[in-house]
Amino acid sequence: MNHTSGIKRIGVLTSGGDAPGMNAAVRAVVRAGIYYGMEVYGIKNGFSGLLDGQLEPMTLRSVSEILNHGGTVLHTSRCPEFRTPDGREKAASIARVFKLDAIVVIGGDGSFAGAKELSEQGIPVIGIPATIDNDIGCSDYTIGFDTALNTVKDAVDKIKDTTYSHERCSIIEVMGRHAGYIAINAAIANGAEICLIPEKPFELEADVIQPILAGRSRGKTHFILIVAEGACSCEELAAQIKQIIGITPAVSILGYIQRGGSPTVRDRVIASQMSVHAVECLARGEVNRIVAYKGERVVDIDIAEALAQKKSIDPHTLLTSEILSL
Ligand code: ADP
Repeated sequence: MNHTSGIKRIGVLTSGGDAPGMNAAVRAVVRAGIYYGMEVYGIKNGFSGLLDGQLEPMTLRSVSEILNHGGTVLHTSRCPEFRTPDGREKAASIARVFKLDAIVVIGGDGSFAGAKELSEQGIPVIGIPATIDNDIGCSDYTIGFDTALNTVKDAVDKIKDTTYSHERCSIIEVMGRHAGYIAINAAIANGAEICLIPEKPFELEADVIQPILAGRSRGKTHFILIVAEGACSCEELAAQIKQIIGITPAVSILGYIQRGGSPTVRDRVIASQMSVHAVECLARGEVNRIVAYKGERVVDIDIAEALAQKKSIDPHTLLTSEILSL
């Protein structure tokens, strides 16, 4: 289909932490790009592949059979060289050599900061939010979050079975160095007794020891503590609980299992919708924007404005978890 902007050739890359649903996004960018009459180049390994000229034309068929796979077929990286002015200048000149009229960046906040720098070098960009942490200020939702949460839900259900049988206390560490979205939602979904997140500093006595003792006095025999990795060290927390209460918590660190797996329906659909929207922006000549999910709708926001936006966990979500943990 013809479009009115001068954007004829685009590049697409995935950058930063990988997230399930990135492939659905790549597929949709490629297919929508071709639908709107553009040539699409896949850039390998994020910004580092741009610097090395690792670009290849993509076709309708090169994105066959990837929708249901976790990870990213384009691979991803963290690229320190791109953080330097020289690195960014070089990246922009390579984009010009390949005659890219715009680059689609699929990633998190860090990748968008990089994309903004690239736009300041005269290379138009558009960002699609993908990170399991759901921590991008401008968007209610980020690709990968639902899949990660479902993985955590399954793991905690299993740990809960054994915790229940042995009448013990389990501490489960989930991802989230700076954001507690996975932790708080898993706490609600799995019925955790205690949830600790980086956004809300906790007091050992009031927020951990007392609730366990109160639960015990009401007859609870097992306790699930879900801890975002940025909230505290689970090993130290276990040692403190052992010292004060005399029970030995079992610590499980879920780790990278949370990054992988076939994306859920929600991640596939939202990744597809956001990516088609991104290409439609380019087809209209609207560049240097971030696609976002707001109130169940896909929208787009100026990149500088998007990067300045912050979001925080709704206090009522925290209260909900607390009410239901009794
Ligand atoms: P995420 O996109 O998941 O937040 P990172 O924060 O690791 O991941 O960012 C991915 C890459 O984006 C970095 O390795 C770097 O190349 C680039 N990047 C991040 N922040 C900046 C910045 N402030 N300026 C330029 N490039 C950046």
